[in-house]
Amino acid sequence: MSLRGERAYADLSVAPPTPTAESRPWWDALRAGRLTVQTCGACGTAQGYPRTRCVRCWSAELSFVEATGRAELVTHSEVHRPGQASWGAVTPYYVGLVRLEEGATLLTHLLTDVLPEGRRPRVGDRCDVVPVQVGEWVLPFFRVAGVRPGLPVRDGHDAVESTVTDLVPPE
Ligand SMILES: [Zn+2]
Repeated sequence: MSLRGERAYADLSVAPPTPTAESRPWWDALRAGRLTVQTCGACGTAQGYPRTRCVRCWSAELSFVEATGRAELVTHSEVHRPGQASWGAVTPYYVGLVRLEEGATLLTHLLTDVLPEGRRPRVGDRCDVVPVQVGEWVLPFFRVAGVRPGLPVRDGHDAVESTVTDLVPPE
């Protein structure tokens, strides 16, 4: 497993994201180092990617609120053959779905450089946002902290989650 920090990505030349009218404020904030989450003024729902309407109550009263940057890992996968060849320079790496403290989920690239050697990401792991320069863009990666708030720390593995959530065969 590679243990890689954010500095490995600055020189990557990857296909750029395509901001829309709805998502441009989110990208602009990210470029300034701030993770925001689109939040409904009518019902308080936070939603994972920017839209014109609230997914819960259909209100158009939406705004971008600064997120705490703390999240919990929902699921993950180890990537060896990326869909875009340019990401091949940093394989293998993890992608994962994280649930922000605000409740919205985000599909993201995971940094595993602070995990102990051999420790893979686990469902429920605490993750913290790290704005990472990737080529000309800033992307919201999440660093897996390897601690699980609210759960007792256990040695060894969790058999249930490792069979359900590890999407790649063991090495
Ligand atoms: Zn709403």
